Amino acid sequence: MKFSLNLQILFAVIASFILGIALQQMDPNAAFYKNFMFACEIIGNTFVDLLKMILIPLIFSSIAVGVAHLRSHGNKHRVWKTTLIFFLFTSSLAVLLGLGAANLFQVGKGLDIHLFDADMAHFQARQMTLPDFIVKFFHGLFINPFAAMANGDILAVVVFALFIGIALIVLEEKTPLCLNFLEEVLAITMLIVGWIMKIAPLGILALLTRLIAGQSLELLATLVQFIAVIIGTTLLHGLVVLPLILFVLTGVSPAFFFRGARESLITAFATSSSSATLPVTLRCAEHHLHVDKKIAGFVVSIGATINMDGTALYEAAAALFVAHLTGVELNLLQQLIVFITAMLAAIGAPGIPSAGMVTMIMVLQSVGLPAEAIAILLPIDRLLDAVRTMVNVEGDMIGSLVVQKLTRPE
Ligand code: ASP
Repeated sequence: MKFSLNLQILFAVIASFILGIALQQMDPNAAFYKNFMFACEIIGNTFVDLLKMILIPLIFSSIAVGVAHLRSHGNKHRVWKTTLIFFLFTSSLAVLLGLGAANLFQVGKGLDIHLFDADMAHFQARQMTLPDFIVKFFHGLFINPFAAMANGDILAVVVFALFIGIALIVLEEKTPLCLNFLEEVLAITMLIVGWIMKIAPLGILALLTRLIAGQSLELLATLVQFIAVIIGTTLLHGLVVLPLILFVLTGVSPAFFFRGARESLITAFATSSSSATLPVTLRCAEHHLHVDKKIAGFVVSIGATINMDGTALYEAAAALFVAHLTGVELNLLQQLIVFITAMLAAIGAPGIPSAGMVTMIMVLQSVGLPAEAIAILLPIDRLLDAVRTMVNVEGDMIGSLVVQKLTRPE
């Protein structure tokens, strides 16, 4: 009997929960435990490495081809404008939700910050003020493309691919060979993504088993209210707000969307990286959600680096959490600063595990909160990162459907 990939991934998720919880009961020094975790590490890393291997050629070719094809799209200016407006709109909703939930539930009040003294003492916070962040951000945009590709510097690769795509539009019929070549690169990389997906169930099983087995229940219990509010609000955004926007703007039903998107959502959960998940996200958008290649290549690939609703929501809520912990009451103006910096932090965070933690420092410092407080958040970040990354990639896929619908030439 042959199971579909979707079903295999579902089995993998269920099995990983059972295995992860069983492993939590075991002695971490037992030989079996160690060997099992070692095997999971090798398999999980291999899966992520394969995705990363294909990522740069894929991002580069999909964006360049996506942009170049906009020339035949009657509404090319509408496509990029709609994309940006949609990303900003949904991210600001996410931040508002994060701020709203943190204010409503007053998360962090009543917890004693001294509980975390030991963690904080060992933590060396790197400084990252808002101006530092902006300088760094602009500095990272334009880089020698070969260096950027070799270093996996995704934002710079995106920018260079945008240049190439726009040049191909301007040159119109003069560069058919180059465009053809890039189209072929894209077709080849997508085929390889299909091969990589064959081991996705195994990779996801290994990654999730490690994730669950490695959770410290004690720590989770101390911060349970914060974790519940963050996960609850992130899921509210992912399961209600985004699908509602999708339905209102396009008429696409949430059931259809989630059926088509689940490979990517689960991969995002397991890898905590929107970049590593991008090959799968693109595949879902094109094959399962029937988004036109040209639109998906553009919207999803750019979204993977700049559109992060889950991260934006988290950064805002976590800043308020730290404020409550330290007994600081943030007034409206300060919350507005958190709003803006959380948006910037989400745009600037690369799509890699715990990237949001680094940009979080800027959000904290922008309103004078101690960056050391990150020490409290780091140990629980694996779990929260998994959830927010899932919503990050969801936003990209929904964006591609919305842009496709709103820009369809009459
Ligand atoms: N891990 C997230 C992502 O790749 C970024 C973050 O840390 O929030 O989308």
